[in-house]
Amino acid sequence: MNTYSLEAKHYFSRELLAWYNRSKRDLPWRRHRNPYYIWVSEIMLQQTRVDTVIPYFHRFIDKFPSIEALADAPEEDVLKCWEGLGYYSRARNLQSAAREVKEQYGGQVPSDKKAVSDLKGVGPYTTGAILSIAYNQPEPAVDGNVMRVLSRYFLIEEDIMKGSTRAFMEGLVVELIPEGEASNFNQALMELGALVCTPKSPQCLTCPVMEHCAGRIAGMEESLPVKTKAKPPRPEYRAVALVEGVGAEKGKVLIRQRPSEGLLARMWELPHELAPQQAALAGADDAEQMDMLRGVLYEEGISVVPDHFHMQAEHTFSHIHWNLRVYRCTAAANDSSLPANYRYIEAKDMEELAFPKVFLTILNSYFAMV
Ligand code: SF4
Repeated sequence: MNTYSLEAKHYFSRELLAWYNRSKRDLPWRRHRNPYYIWVSEIMLQQTRVDTVIPYFHRFIDKFPSIEALADAPEEDVLKCWEGLGYYSRARNLQSAAREVKEQYGGQVPSDKKAVSDLKGVGPYTTGAILSIAYNQPEPAVDGNVMRVLSRYFLIEEDIMKGSTRAFMEGLVVELIPEGEASNFNQALMELGALVCTPKSPQCLTCPVMEHCAGRIAGMEESLPVKTKAKPPRPEYRAVALVEGVGAEKGKVLIRQRPSEGLLARMWELPHELAPQQAALAGADDAEQMDMLRGVLYEEGISVVPDHFHMQAEHTFSHIHWNLRVYRCTAAANDSSLPANYRYIEAKDMEELAFPKVFLTILNSYFAMV
C-alpha cells in the first residue's frame, strides 16, 4: 500500500483535532471519561445511529448505573432495556462481560489490552475505543466509519472488507495519533465520518482536511472506500398466530418465550412458523397457512381456531429477512395447561417482558385497536 508524506499526516491530525475541539457534539457518554459509560455506548452504537442510541443510553445508565448493577440484574431486565435496539446478543454479552469485570477486576473496567479484548463481545474496535477514549492509550479504534475517512483522505483503494486493509489502517491510525491525544483523536475521526465524510454525499467543502484530501483531489470521494458487497439477508416467509384468549384469558393474547440459545434467545414473541413453501408464500393461500399454524400449535398442546389474515410485517436481521403474515386466531378452549414457555398477556404485561421490535409493533397495534 501507499506511503504518505509526513506533512499530509501531520496536517490531517492537526486540523482534525482542531475541528473536533471546535465542533464536537455534546453526547452523554462524552461528558465523563467513565469507562463503563464508554463501553455501553460503543456496544449500543454498533449498527445503530447516534440519535437512536441517546435515549437508550440514558435509560440503560439510569437503570444500571454501575458494572455491579448490570452484573446483578436479571437478564430479562437487561433485554427489556435493550428492546427495540436489535442485535440482542450485544446486550447478553455486555452483561456476561460485566459479570466477569465484577468478579475478576473488582467492578473496574480493566485498562490492559489483553484483559479488555478477552471480555465477551469486545472485539478489536471496542477494545481500541475503550482504551483510547477512557484511558487515553494510543490504540486504534477502526470501524467502517474510520475506514471510509482514511480510504478517502489517503486514497486507499484496497478492499476494506479484507483483514489486511484493516490491519494496515490500524497501523496508520497509531502513526496519526498525536502524543497524549488518543482519546480526542479517535473520537474526532469517528465524528468526521459521522458528520462530514458521510457514506453518501460527503461534505468536502466544509471538511477540515479537504485541502490535502487525496480522494477528493482525485475526484474519487464518492467511489471510495472500495468494499465488496456483503451477501444480502436470506428471505424467510413465516406465518404468525395472533391468538386471542377465551374465558379467563379473554382480552389477552398468547405469547411464547424463545429457547435459551440462538437467535433472539429468551425473548418473547407471537407463535410463528416457517411457511412450507417459502418462495410462494407471498401469493400462497392464506387458508393453507392458517391450517399449518393450527396444526403446529396443536402439536404443542394448544387448540386454536384460525380466523382471518390480520396484517403483514417484516424484520431484517444481519443474515435473514423475515416476511411475516399475521393471522387472527381464537383459542379453542380455556386452556389451563399451557406449555411452560407459553402464556397469555394483556397490554400492561408488555412493560415487564422483552420482545423483538417486530412483535412489539404487532402487539402494540393490536392492543391499541381492541
Ligand atoms: S475532503 Fe471530502 S472525502 Fe476528503 S475527508 Fe473530507 S469529506 Fe471526506
